[in-house]
Amino acid sequence: MLVAHFARTVGLAGYGLVVSPMFEELGVFERLGEATDVVGKEMYDFHDKGDRHLALRPEGTASIVRAYVQHRPPLPFKAWYAAPNFRYERAQAGRYRQHHQLGVEVLGPTDADLDVEVVALAASVVAGLGLTRVEMLLNSLGDGACRPAYVAALAAFLAERQDQLCDQHQRLPLGNPLRVLDCKRDSCRSATDDAPRSLDHLCEPCRDHFARVGDGLTALGVSFTIDTRLVRGLDYYTRTTFELAATALESAQNAVGGGGRYDGLAEAMGGPPTPGIGFGLGVERLLLACDAEEVLAAPKGSVDVFVVDTTGGGEALRLTDELRRAGIGADRAFDARSMKAQFKAADRSGARLALVVGERELAEGTVAVRDLIDGDQEPVGRDDVLADVRKRL
Ligand SMILES: [Zn+2]
Ligand SMILES: [Zn+2]
Repeated sequence: MLVAHFARTVGLAGYGLVVSPMFEELGVFERLGEATDVVGKEMYDFHDKGDRHLALRPEGTASIVRAYVQHRPPLPFKAWYAAPNFRYERAQAGRYRQHHQLGVEVLGPTDADLDVEVVALAASVVAGLGLTRVEMLLNSLGDGACRPAYVAALAAFLAERQDQLCDQHQRLPLGNPLRVLDCKRDSCRSATDDAPRSLDHLCEPCRDHFARVGDGLTALGVSFTIDTRLVRGLDYYTRTTFELAATALESAQNAVGGGGRYDGLAEAMGGPPTPGIGFGLGVERLLLACDAEEVLAAPKGSVDVFVVDTTGGGEALRLTDELRRAGIGADRAFDARSMKAQFKAADRSGARLALVVGERELAEGTVAVRDLIDGDQEPVGRDDVLADVRKRL
């Protein structure tokens, strides 16, 4: 149901399903950057019988970009996926060794309108689930032109306050100074309150890009909060970066998804320089957020019509087939259950209509069409059933 909702939302925006392999050569993921947790200490890697060093997919983007580099589909390449990811770590609530991700990736355009589309899609998936307490956090990390100077300024700032940082970040050398900004420990947080912000160091094209993203989101009615600490754990992100925080969840575990631009990744994987952007949503986290907000109760039924047949099931077999061929969701009971049991099943199915076939209907060549909401029932000629059902749905 979650996946179907996701597929429908992104399908309407022109994204196609891409199924990528569960594992890849270790190197595919290593290009994401050793300084990241998912690639550093959490990767689920192993040697196969041919002594190849492989890893179970730790996240969704690398495999899609690898597939793009290998197959070079026409641009823009708009892909979505729903797939398990793996990490080697101690399992805890909301963090499992196998977890599931829904995501999109687009390769090709640098247009800020695409950033708007992707951020708005993520917001719309979450809103469509009925979640209202999810905050969209937005930042820009700059690009190859402006980021190095910013990272140097940040590193210099941190070097002066090395002794105020948390145990992990006090150790030299500081791998990626950006990571200190999203450190959750109090000491790091207070030491970086006045740290240089990437937004103040953007070059002009990056500044324009970020302004257009903000304007576009506002035009679409997507509310967002600028969060200058939002740096993302992965090193290949450039410019737009965003995260969805479920405020109904505890703050250390409240990121239900996030994404951003990764304009340098395709080239780093051996392909032509190709900008890219995407997002991933954590299925387990999303479900925790749904529980916390008490939305997304039992999945609604996926059929419109339920066929109740007490004459042996032959009519149910033919009628459900006719309905399905006509594009109408239909189900039936099996094992010649009693009329009462079949109506119970019809209610559970979530169908709007029941088509009832008893001995009398069979003899008269009719079907009783029953509205399961108001209980009204009317006989309809067997040949007119499809047209009648279409009219009522
Ligand atoms: Zn820290
Ligand atoms: Zn820049």
